[in-house]
Amino acid sequence: MLAQSARGVECRGFSPNEQRVVLRLRSADSTAPPLSSDCLLEPENVNGSPTIATFAASPRSYTGAFRTVLLPPELEYLGDGDVVALEPSRGVLRVLYRRNSPSNSLLVTERCNHYCLMCSQPPKNIDDSYIYAELDEAIPLISNDTREIGITGGEPTLGGDRFLNLVRSMKTYLPRTALHVLSNGRRFVDPSFAKALAGISHSDFMIGIPIYADYAALHDYIVQSDGAFDETVRGILNLKAQGVRVEVRIVVLKQNSERLVQLAEFLARNLTFIDHVTFMALEVTGFARANLELIWIDPHDYRIALTEAARTTEAAGIRTSLYNHQLCIVEREVWHLARKSISDWKQEYLPTCATCSIQDQCAGFFATGRTRHSAYIVAQ
Ligand code: SF4
Repeated sequence: MLAQSARGVECRGFSPNEQRVVLRLRSADSTAPPLSSDCLLEPENVNGSPTIATFAASPRSYTGAFRTVLLPPELEYLGDGDVVALEPSRGVLRVLYRRNSPSNSLLVTERCNHYCLMCSQPPKNIDDSYIYAELDEAIPLISNDTREIGITGGEPTLGGDRFLNLVRSMKTYLPRTALHVLSNGRRFVDPSFAKALAGISHSDFMIGIPIYADYAALHDYIVQSDGAFDETVRGILNLKAQGVRVEVRIVVLKQNSERLVQLAEFLARNLTFIDHVTFMALEVTGFARANLELIWIDPHDYRIALTEAARTTEAAGIRTSLYNHQLCIVEREVWHLARKSISDWKQEYLPTCATCSIQDQCAGFFATGRTRHSAYIVAQ
């Protein structure tokens, strides 16, 4: 999950000057070694509030609770081991990590040097450097049994050394956790930055970088930034020269749907050493929703090109996946490439799907994208 936040959270007993505090929630019967940032989670009704978190002076003195946060109903799901950032002065609480979620993603910045037509997280030109500081505190609180964590933005590498330090910190505190970073790859046009990342030697690291077209003008148009294609491709070459695992991510929209096969051939010829390629259906949120009439194409209408493109990269020996595509609009010959890629907390099915015999294998839909989906959804 990506950070969810709630406003108007009632905080009692905090100093008015207390700007921001990072906390790990702890149930009363937890056997985990206590940390000074632990707070007690009480799932009982107090003063009519459905759930309450009581913050004690220290994890060893719960009985002396003196600071209380009344959680709003939308945060009822919080549980033992979850990590939150609280801003008592503004009554804002953000969920940074959920222990029971298989898909935790840390947003490190909302700034970006792209302005993609279909961006699901539209960039903001703000100073949000506090996020890195917050994550420095949060990472030691995350369970080291976590299977995978994503890093996303904005563009994470705009943080420069702070980004590298975050990767280092994750390696130190979460040595068994796979790390998957989403980046536009341009920062790695500087070979020394690619070398610095590789030098961290994270044992289970992958970076996902989009290439949307087989030629510069179309890619640069989709990401709304001149020179992007050239720097991204050279960035990928530098990363691979340093042995960093790279995934190429292709979001399919009307503008590139007719050249999917050429793009697959470009990858097969020029970047055959990449570690994974994903063909992704649109998530209709953010700029994708605002630009929907410009960029929308029914996935049913590009299914033949998608099949040929996926077959091309697969035949070139590149691990290939289809993300966010429902099985009933994908040709059967590439069903084996379709993954259940939508995070649990934002995935849903249509009423039609209730009678479908393959629902348990199907990616389903983004809950954020109810406004538009293929017109060819049919239960199998
Ligand atoms: S009907 Fe629904 S569950 Fe079945 S394949 Fe289509 S989208 Fe998936």
